[in-house]
Amino acid sequence: MKFSGRTLFNNTPVEITVVDARVQEIREVPSANSTTWVAPALIDIQVNGFAGFDLNVATVTSEDVCAMVRALWQVGTGFLCPTVVTGSFDGVCNSLRAVVEACEMDSLVAHSVLGIHLEGPYISAEDGPRGAHPLEHVREPDWDEFQRWQDIADGDISIVTLAPEKEGAIPFIKKLVANGIVVALGHTDAAPSDIQAAIDAGARLSTHLGNGAHALIRRHPNYIWEQLGADELWASLIVDGHHLPPTVAKSMMRAKTLDRCLLVSDAVALAGMKPGIYEFAGKSVELTADRCVRLVGTEYLAGSAIELARGIENSVRFAGVSLEEAVSLATLQPMHLLNAQAHVEAKTNLILFEWDATYCEINLIATIVGDELVYHTEAQQ
Ligand SMILES: [Zn+2]
Repeated sequence: MKFSGRTLFNNTPVEITVVDARVQEIREVPSANSTTWVAPALIDIQVNGFAGFDLNVATVTSEDVCAMVRALWQVGTGFLCPTVVTGSFDGVCNSLRAVVEACEMDSLVAHSVLGIHLEGPYISAEDGPRGAHPLEHVREPDWDEFQRWQDIADGDISIVTLAPEKEGAIPFIKKLVANGIVVALGHTDAAPSDIQAAIDAGARLSTHLGNGAHALIRRHPNYIWEQLGADELWASLIVDGHHLPPTVAKSMMRAKTLDRCLLVSDAVALAGMKPGIYEFAGKSVELTADRCVRLVGTEYLAGSAIELARGIENSVRFAGVSLEEAVSLATLQPMHLLNAQAHVEAKTNLILFEWDATYCEINLIATIVGDELVYHTEAQQ
């Protein structure tokens, strides 16, 4: 089987030869008689679930994690940070074990997992900043507890999202940074001084900036402006059209600059499911026809139901960035944040797609992960 296209980042015509689902050769050709783009496989550093699989339920198994990762390949996401959220000590252990065991039993899944993102439980207890995280499990940073989790995770926890105003958070951040973990601020009610202290301690990212926030806040100063204006912090953005209105996504990308932004899906298990009322994280949530997930009876969002590729499309639509820039926000940017270049570039990890410039749509043709063709449309057979 052969695929041909032009590389998105340097417009080089290439031909990819695949035999028995393995990449045999990628060679430059004089010209590509093709409108197909060849780009790096997408990297999503915040995935709670997908296609009905939920990492944060007590019943999650390693098979579920493998199935979730493989479902993500079908939509172009080649790498991810499975995201374990606020829960009891045992609940978090359980989710971490499922991810570690999935990586042990499937080497391609292991290749795909760039690290585990621990979001919580050291976050704000306030309604709004807490989002859909369960109040009864929100607590103060606890280094001993974190170390036990990191042992269970085989040292694979690589991002921690926390609220810097929690008691003991600043020394906790310093320890995480000393251990090579990316510290992200999120689900926070921090004062400007807390945010500055976190930056001084080595925090590098704002998790889904503009979300995990009160519905009403003081115009300024507030924790959104303060993080937006901090050049030391990168920002992950959920560009699904619900978590951030289009003008807010555009304004944040311009204020942060594209060099400090990256896209995340923050997908929950409902991503890929039909609209309706579901149980999620112990709460009733509604999935609307336009892919919005809300806590029933509130205006609070409870995770997203998009694929990362839709965030790329929306970035072009809302923020007027180029396709190349938008793809970079979901590939090169997260790769650099996690310092994962050596791992990502050691093997062939690509997506091939057609770009519909009129409707700003990515039509995926194939996904290659770890030198293996893991998805392709029928037309290419
Ligand atoms: Zn969150």
